[in-house]
Order: sequence, then C-alpha cells, then structure tokens
Amino acid sequence: MNIFPFNRSVEESLSIRSVIENITEAAVITTLEGNIVNYNHRFSAHVPSVLHTKKIEEVFEVTSINCSIKEMGKVISARSGLFPVRLALYDKGERNSETSPAYVSMLKSRNSRKPAALIYQLDEQLLRFTQRLAQITNAKKQHARLARRSKLEATTDVLTRLKNRRFVQSFAELHWYSCIRGVDDAVLVMFDIDHFKKINDAYGHDVGDDVIKAFATCLKEEARAADVVGRWGGEEFIVILTKCTLQEARIYLHRAMNKIRWLKVTSGGATLSLTASAGYCAFSQCNALEEVYQKADEALYRAKHSGRDTFTRACD
Ligand code: GH3
Ligand code: MG
Ligand code: MG
Repeated sequence: MNIFPFNRSVEESLSIRSVIENITEAAVITTLEGNIVNYNHRFSAHVPSVLHTKKIEEVFEVTSINCSIKEMGKVISARSGLFPVRLALYDKGERNSETSPAYVSMLKSRNSRKPAALIYQLDEQLLRFTQRLAQITNAKKQHARLARRSKLEATTDVLTRLKNRRFVQSFAELHWYSCIRGVDDAVLVMFDIDHFKKINDAYGHDVGDDVIKAFATCLKEEARAADVVGRWGGEEFIVILTKCTLQEARIYLHRAMNKIRWLKVTSGGATLSLTASAGYCAFSQCNALEEVYQKADEALYRAKHSGRDTFTRACD
C-alpha cells in the first residue's frame, strides 16, 4: 500500500519556490551563510530592497538575539519549530529604528538531515497589531497634547499670556479653602495702571497694548513661581501671593512698584514711563472670598485718591 498521498513526480515538482509561495506571510529563504535563495511576493512587496540584494544582512538585521546572521544557523539548529526574532529592516540603506516581529526555522537536507537553509517569516499579524497599537499610542499622545494646549488657552490671557480672569477666580477659590483650613495666609493684590486712558488717547491703542504687555511682564518677573499673576481685565491685574503675610506683601509691593517706575516701554516711536496703583488684602482679613476682592478694590480706590503711584492696605 502506498502511504504517501502523492507520487514521486509530484514530490519532485514541489520546488523551493512553490513551498515559499505557499507561505501566507512575507518569507525569505537563505543559506546558512546568509545568501538569499528565494523569497515570496509578499516579502518583496514588504521589503523591496530584497530585489537587488544577494546578502540577507543588507535587507535586515536580527536585533533580538545576540549573534550575527551567520551564526543564526547554529542557534536555530539547536531548536525545533519556529524561533521568534525581531528584524530591523533596511529602507534605502537606512536601518529602521522600529523592529518587525518574525520567525526563523531551519530547512534540513532531505538526504543527510543536516541543516541546509533558513526561512525568515514575518509575523504580519503581530506587525499589523503593533503598528495599530503605535498609531493608537500616537493618537493618544496627540490628543493629550491638544487637551493640554486647549486647557492652557482656556486659562491664558491672549494679549499678555498671563493667567486670565477665569483662572484667577478658580485659583483664588481653591486657595481660599486651603487657607481657611490651614495655617498659611495669602494676599490678593489688585493693580491698576495710572491714567492709562491718556496713553491710549495720545499714542493709540497699539501702543497701549504694548504698555499692557510690558506691565504684565514686569509683574510676572517680580512674583515667585508659586504666586498667580493674572489679567483681571483692561489695565487691571491681580496677583495672588501664596504663603504670604501682609508684611511680606509690602516688601513685594515696594519692589514691584519700583520696577514699574523704572520701566521704559518703547513702542510706536515713543518711549513711555508709567506708574500704577495697588490695593491689597490678606485672606485672613476676611470671612468670605468675595470680601477679599471687595476690600482689595476699595484699597485700590483709596490709593488712586491719595494721588496714585502708591499702594494701600485693606481696612480690617
Ligand atoms: P486711573 O488712573 O483712574 O486708573 O485712570 P485710567 O485712565 O487708567 O482708567 P480708565 O478706567 O478710565 O481707563 C482705562 C482704559 O483702558 C479705558 C480702555 O479703553 C482702556 N483699555 C481697556 N482694555 C484695553 C486693551 O486691551 N488695550 C488697550 N490699548 N486699552 C485698553
Ligand atoms: Mg482701570
Ligand atoms: Mg487705570
């Protein structure tokens, strides 16, 4: 009885080419020395450089194993079945930084059963999966970047790049609750540029904008990293000095007011000096956050009425 399902002539017609074309994934056969013997269409479609190459090390590098392609034969012959590896493919002479999952297996000589050739077979399913995963990871990163940017935009004043009124309000609210529970105090300072309307009227709105920007930078430079400097609206600004006593706030205000006096803004062909007035109030002076704003505003009003270019503390 013939136990083989096909006769000798069929067996002989099964060339290496028909074997490799029947592998459903991209595959290449090499000698143990790394000379390319054959490859299927999927492989040449995936790695076009194989069309002009005789040596496998010019097509890819095995990165997951600590041996050269020449030594692969020894490693593989000690095992049976498919041996998983990762291949760094070459694209126009450049090695790809990302590696592709693949399998290597040994073909043995029919007569001697000695190792004769190696088949490298890309794991296309895993490759597609890792590529999709990389796409998803990139999309997630991009989404997180956009979310961070829109969050920043939503809390930033367009003209000055300081925090905007909404941010100042939410920060003050959060800080208010931590201050009333803890031992730390905070001081809210309200600044207003003196006679700003005159600058606008004399030099125009664009120069006025440059003055607002320079003033904002000046306030930001004088504050500490933990303080919040925001534009309250128009030429009015709020600085929340965190972990700060009234005495420390006075030191800050002396410094900031001096810096403002020395500030020179060159815009529209003119160089301008300016002054500002400020009112300040400690959180500990009030029973509610609204009262802090109100008292700081009243103090600012008094600073304006006592001749401007000065700062005044809120009444207890
Ligand atoms: P005071 O010393 O009493 O504060 O006088 P002032 O002139 O600074 O005060 P007032 O509130 O009368 O004027 C503020 C002006 O600021 C009026 C408004 O047109 C101008 N302003 C508000 N927002 C902007 C802005 O974004 N850019 C420019 N250039 N001007 C602005
Ligand atoms: Mg004003
Ligand atoms: Mg003003």
